[in-house]
Amino acid sequence: MKEDLLNNPVFGMAAEQFDRVADFLNLDEQVRERCKWPKRLITVTMPVTMDDGSTQVFFGHRVQHHLSRGPVKGGLRFHPKVDVGEVAALAMWMNWKCALMGLPYGGGKGGITCDPRQLSASEQERLTRRFAQEISSFIGPEVDVMAPDVGTNQQHMAWILDTYSTREGRFVPEVITGKPVELQGSKGRTEATGHGVAFLSARALNKINIPINGATAIIQGFGNVGSHAAKTMVAYGMKITAVSDISGAIYNPNGIDIHALSQHLQKTRGVAGFSEAEAIDPDEMLTMECDVLVPAALERVITEKNAPKLRCKILAEGANGPTTPDADTIIEKRGDIFLIPDILCNAGGVTVSYFEWVQNLQRFSWTKTEVLTKLETKLNEAFENLMQFCKYNKCSHRLGALATGINTVADVKRKRGLFP
Ligand code: NAD
Repeated sequence: MKEDLLNNPVFGMAAEQFDRVADFLNLDEQVRERCKWPKRLITVTMPVTMDDGSTQVFFGHRVQHHLSRGPVKGGLRFHPKVDVGEVAALAMWMNWKCALMGLPYGGGKGGITCDPRQLSASEQERLTRRFAQEISSFIGPEVDVMAPDVGTNQQHMAWILDTYSTREGRFVPEVITGKPVELQGSKGRTEATGHGVAFLSARALNKINIPINGATAIIQGFGNVGSHAAKTMVAYGMKITAVSDISGAIYNPNGIDIHALSQHLQKTRGVAGFSEAEAIDPDEMLTMECDVLVPAALERVITEKNAPKLRCKILAEGANGPTTPDADTIIEKRGDIFLIPDILCNAGGVTVSYFEWVQNLQRFSWTKTEVLTKLETKLNEAFENLMQFCKYNKCSHRLGALATGINTVADVKRKRGLFP
């Protein structure tokens, strides 16, 4: 099983990052092994009745990396390429992210191998409910709390909440986060990840003495994270010069009207064809000149091929795992790009998910301003701590962020000891 996981390109990348950091921290072999491998890998098959009356069987996975610091927390992804190795890698990154942010959680992730664009809403509902039912013995407010990720949104969370609550015979809002506000979702959760990406980009601009007002940004992926990052950046006075999604890439040197683009998207479901910008090559977009480049789609898009050609001053990783270890080495050697590593840059989502869980457990709700202010305080603290750690240890931001997260988990493992 270890070999199977290591042969998966995404898990292999997460494991390689882990090994580098474990060497840096000088972790002893016993703790290193316990931190590296996931606690539980759950795979289920789900027969679903399709709209045409046929039956299709889907595969779904949930990986719980560690339960040592609290329940696991992490999203549920719908994507045709999801497999157990990718989900295990994402669960591992969630683990370090929660520890870095000081949240009382371990990392988890889920995924269903499907193309949501090819499924009707009712097919998605049957699939989501079936998945929730199949894994309901392994989740719960004190065990595993899911949230939205690529291809899922608050509607999917509402179906999971309803399925779990029906099984329990009572309303259990704290079993899931990222749900609609009407079902006790947190105000500010939908925009939290993108808002955090924009907030930290502004902090980074500040550090390298570039005025925020008028700074330019390019965003890959215009879903939950990318679109909300764009909206907050525009509110800060920044200019979004290029955007891409699965449909293509668009460019306007004067700045794209994000409001008009969102309206275009509602009609066409893609950024391609937006009349107020020109079509460009999506791969070339990544190496165009800008102050902030935000990969906010999928993993492994900044590689050893395009890393030498990047012309951004800040790389703000909205997505999980967008930069390969080889590209990391190149960026580190170049020394002219300020990296905001994924486990910090997109931590706004899990942080407000934590706020949502806390509000649910207390049966209390905060205002959106309270939520976003608390979020900014937490992100700023983690950002400043990371800057200090890296300065003191003379290390890259990636290494510093992962080292802080991994060391926190390793410390808990040592103190709890090993159950015989
Ligand atoms: P989403 O499904 O809402 O959006 C994904 C976007 O990426 C879509 O616009 C899609 O068209 C685009 N995309 C897909 N393939 C692409 C390609 N090859 N080239 C360009 N664009 C492409 O997903 P999301 O929730 O915005 O998540 C995006 C990333 O952020 C993921 O890595 C996810 O794990 C991470 N993330 C999300 C959250 C959250 O709260 N939603 C939190 C932390 C991290």
